[in-house]
Amino acid sequence: MYDYLIVGAGIYGAVFAREATERGYTCLIIDKRPHIGGNIYTEKIEGINVHKYGAHIFHTNDRKVWAYVNRFAEFNRYTNSPVANYHGELYNLPFNMNTFSKMWGVITPQEAMDKIEEQKKAALSSLAGVTPEDTEETAAEKIRAFEPSNLEEQAISLIGTDIYEKLIKGYTGKQWGRACTELPAFIIKRLPVRFTFDNNYFNALFQGIPVGGYTKMVERIIGEIPVKLGVDYLKERETYRKAAKKVVFTGPIDQYFDYRLGALKYRSVRFETEVLDIPNYQGNAVINYTDAETPYTRIIEHKHFEFGKDEDGNDLPKTVISREYSAEWQVGDEPYYPVNDAENGALFLLYKELAEKEPDVIFGGRLGEYKYYDMDQVIAKALQDADRFL
Ligand SMILES: Cc1cc2nc3c(=O)[nH]c(=O)nc-3n(C[C@H](O)[C@H](O)[C@H](O)COP(=O)(O)OP(=O)(O)OC[C@H]3O[C@@H](n4cnc5c(N)ncnc54)[C@H](O)[C@@H]3O)c2cc1C
Repeated sequence: MYDYLIVGAGIYGAVFAREATERGYTCLIIDKRPHIGGNIYTEKIEGINVHKYGAHIFHTNDRKVWAYVNRFAEFNRYTNSPVANYHGELYNLPFNMNTFSKMWGVITPQEAMDKIEEQKKAALSSLAGVTPEDTEETAAEKIRAFEPSNLEEQAISLIGTDIYEKLIKGYTGKQWGRACTELPAFIIKRLPVRFTFDNNYFNALFQGIPVGGYTKMVERIIGEIPVKLGVDYLKERETYRKAAKKVVFTGPIDQYFDYRLGALKYRSVRFETEVLDIPNYQGNAVINYTDAETPYTRIIEHKHFEFGKDEDGNDLPKTVISREYSAEWQVGDEPYYPVNDAENGALFLLYKELAEKEPDVIFGGRLGEYKYYDMDQVIAKALQDADRFL
């Protein structure tokens, strides 16, 4: 009998199992998928590490986590610098001097700030109903009293119309499957802008992609720990519960309890992946399509995460691209992003109460905790849980 049965060979399960093994416990890892890695799984196609469940860029400010992952992988110098394509006009993201210069022809940070202020002022005056009859004071009073009632009004009052129309409106609408005027204002609290020529998307101390792909990194974390693939714990609960003293469950918490209180909601993503017989399709790993008409949100060209080369530095003749579509989710679909609204938050707390009564089962990871975790956060949580439970 094993000490721990780890359900899920994703990054949470792998790290927990490694920590348990290093402390002298025996573990068996099972996963219902035919591969390890969970959602960070990368598959080699035409020599390219393809991010099968969406683009994954490792970034962290946590020195402990960075040191941890570097035990198992060498990271390259990849810096995420997405480009936006709005009807064929290309803009750098996140919003920075390159974006502003392309949008308005401004040259200095002061010119960019003045332009944004001018746009915000015009938008706010119109939204707050300022008329030519207003005095400076009454206009200022109306603008002070204005409360955005939806995401469109919120975004325009934070950044003005040009950036909203070209870079936010269509993309956000596609992501949520609803027009920005029908989305609540609180979704966008701040819109970070940068007055430097810096296209680095993440404000993180450490960033990169594991050389050779994430699967190789997870393989090294798991090391000699036994793994059984293609086993769904919930379908073979009787057999596998008896295999270990304790269980670490990293699947969906509501599914563990047979959805007895109802299903927690997710937003899903659908990918269309294609191999192209050309060396370079779009010149960047990530291009966001920010217009409303293009049905997909982004195109990922996987080879650019590793600069178009294989592990020995050779050029790769072909390329692999994935078109990413935002999708409604139904029970049975792959769950991606938890919907963190009040209703689902409350339902999760009820499941958490059930989980606390479950003897010898630890619920962990993004699905076990119904929480959006970046990879570094899920690793930090697995290390913390290992300290707590082992
Ligand atoms: C589209 C997308 C893009 C992302 N991009 C980034 C990024 O750029 N940077 C970043 O840091 N993070 C990113 N993330 C977050 C990252 O994917 C997660 O932090 C990470 O995958 C969570 O790992 P996990 O082990 O908790 O879950 P998972 O990877 O989902 O692992 C859970 C495993 O449990 C298995 N399982 C479930 N139920 C059962 C069962 N009944 N029996 C057996 N096995 C079962 C599943 O098959 C799965 O393999 C992204 C997430 C998404 C959705």
